[in-house]
Amino acid sequence: MTEAQDPAPTDFIRERIRQDLASGKVAQVVTRFPPEPNGYLHIGHAKAITTSFSIAQEFGGRCNLRMDDTNPGAEDQEYVDAIMEDVRWLGFSWDGLYYAADYFDQLYAWAVQLVEKGLAYVDDQNAEQIANSRGTLTTPGTDSPHRSRSVAENLDLLARMKAGEFGDGQKVLRAKIDMASPNLNLRDPVMYRIRHMHHQRTGDRWCIYPMYDWAHGQSDSIEGITHSLCTLEFEHHRPLYDWFCDSLGIYKPQQIEFARLNVEYLLTSKRKLLLLVDGGHVEGWDDPRMPTLRGLRRRGYPPEALVAFARHVGLAKVNGTHEIALLEHFVRDHLNKTALRRMAVLDPIELVIENWPEQHVEWVAAQNNPEDPNAGTREVPFGRRLWIEREDFLENPPKDFFRLAPGREVRLRFGYFVKCVGVDKDAAGNVTTIRCTYDPETKGGNAPDGRKVKATIHWVSAAHAVDAEVRLYEHLFTHPDPASFDQSEFLSILNPTSKRTVRGKLEPSCKDAQGGERFQFERLAYFYCDPKDSRPGAPVFHRTVTLKDAWKKVQQKGK
Ligand code: ATP
Ligand code: MG
Repeated sequence: MTEAQDPAPTDFIRERIRQDLASGKVAQVVTRFPPEPNGYLHIGHAKAITTSFSIAQEFGGRCNLRMDDTNPGAEDQEYVDAIMEDVRWLGFSWDGLYYAADYFDQLYAWAVQLVEKGLAYVDDQNAEQIANSRGTLTTPGTDSPHRSRSVAENLDLLARMKAGEFGDGQKVLRAKIDMASPNLNLRDPVMYRIRHMHHQRTGDRWCIYPMYDWAHGQSDSIEGITHSLCTLEFEHHRPLYDWFCDSLGIYKPQQIEFARLNVEYLLTSKRKLLLLVDGGHVEGWDDPRMPTLRGLRRRGYPPEALVAFARHVGLAKVNGTHEIALLEHFVRDHLNKTALRRMAVLDPIELVIENWPEQHVEWVAAQNNPEDPNAGTREVPFGRRLWIEREDFLENPPKDFFRLAPGREVRLRFGYFVKCVGVDKDAAGNVTTIRCTYDPETKGGNAPDGRKVKATIHWVSAAHAVDAEVRLYEHLFTHPDPASFDQSEFLSILNPTSKRTVRGKLEPSCKDAQGGERFQFERLAYFYCDPKDSRPGAPVFHRTVTLKDAWKKVQQKGK
C-alpha cells in the first residue's frame, strides 16, 4: 500500500463512465471542481479535487475549476486566489477556469423562459412563511397564495425584482413543481432571492442572486460537464438538477454522488474552523494544526501523500470516517523515500568523551537517506563534547532499557562505541553530564573483536550545534470525532498540548536549511523547515509526523 503500488482505481463512478464512453453517450469526459470561494480548502476538498481531476486524466478528458461564487458577502478574491494556489499545489491543473457569476445573464434569461412556460412564479411570502408551508416528510406542503399568478404578472414582477424595486426578502422567484412531492427539494424551490449587496465579481449590477440549485446544474450544462461529481448530501437535489435542465430543454450532465471524506481528529466545517481562527485558538488558516490544505502544507505534508491517500480511500456510497493513522501512513511512506536524514537532539543532555583530545574534531560520513542511494552522504563533526537525547540515558535502567547507563556501551550513530564511566550531578542530584570513554577501534560502528551493543543513539557535536526552534504538534482535538460536538461545545475538546515549542541542538548542516525542505531527524520524526518564520541561518522546524507507524501495527495485527 504505497503510492507506487496503488492500482488504477475502479469504482462505481469509473464503471459508469466506462459505460457512457462505450455506449457513445459521452465522447469525451468533462468534470469540474466547483468550490465556493468563501473559505480555504481543506482535506475533504483534496478528495473532491483528486476525484474529479484524476478521473478526467485517466479517461483523457478535461477538468474545469469553477468558482461557485453565487453568494455575495461571504465570498472574496482572497479565497479565489488561495483555491487556485492549493489546487496547483496538489499537482493538478485545470483546463478551464470559470466563475458561476459569469453566467448570471444566462441564468436570468433561462428564468424568464421558465416563467413564460408557467414553470416559475414570484412569491411574496417571506422565508419563514415559505419554510412553514413546505410541509414535512409525511405531510404535503401548501400552495402559496401567489402560486397561480399569471405569466404576465410574473414576468413583470421578476423584471422589477431585478431592477431593484423591492427590498431584501420581499419577493422570491420559485420553480412551480409539486408542493406534494415526497422530495422536499421539489416543493417549489426558491430560484432567486433579493439581496442588495455588492458582489466581488459583478459589483452592483445585480440585486437578485441565484440559489445553489438554480445555478449549479445550469453552470455544469453551459460548460458541457459530462459527469458532475459531488458529495452524497446532493443526492436528493439530483431530481431538481434534472428537472431544471429538462424544463429548459438544455444539455443535461449526469450528477453522481460519492461519500464525503472524514478523517478522525480533523474538523472540516468551514464555520467551526473560522471560529478557531477568529477566537485565536490557532494561529491562522495556515496553522500547521489546521486541516486546511495550507495548514497541512505548512505542517510539511507532501501533496503526493494527500493525493495517494485520497486515491487509496476511494469512492464509496456511504459516509464513513478514516483513521488518522492511515493518512499519516501515506505521509510517512512518501517522506521515508524522499526526506534527507539529519541528526538533531531536542531534549539535550551533555556527554563528554574523556579519552578524546580536547580540541580534536573528526568529520564522519553520514548517509543522507538509506532508502535512496542517490541521496549520497554528508560529513558530520564528532568531538569531545556531544549532545544526546536525555531519554537515551538512565542512571538506574529497568531490565528492558538497552540504551546508555552507567557501565553500559552503546553505538553513536556513524561514530564510535562509547561506554558510560560516570556522571556529574547538580546540587539537586540531577545528572548534568554523562562521562564516557570511546573505543577508537569501533570507528564506523563495529568492533573488530565482534562484541555487540544493543543500541545506537544519535548525537550532535556541542561545539558545532545549531540552536533552532522546533515546534512539536499533536492532534488539535482530544476527541477523534470533533464534528459530533456542536458550536458551543467543540472548544472544550481542544488539546491544550497540541503545540509545544522547544529549542533543539541540530547538526551544523541544518543551519542552511531552506524553507520548504523536509527532513527526518533520525530516531525522532519528520520535520519541515517553515518558509514563513525561518530566517537565514535561523531555521524553524515543524514536526510533520512521528516515525512510529501506528497503521502498520494495525495492519500486522489483522494478519
Ligand atoms: P460549505 O459548508 O461552504 O458548503 P463545502 O465544504 O461544501 O462547504 P464547497 O466549496 O461548496 O465547500 O465544496 C466544493 C466541493 O468540494 C463540493 O463539490 C463538495 O461536495 C466537495 N467537498 C467538500 N467537503 C468535502 C469532503 N469532506 N469530502 C469530499 N468532498 C468534499
Ligand atoms: Mg458547499
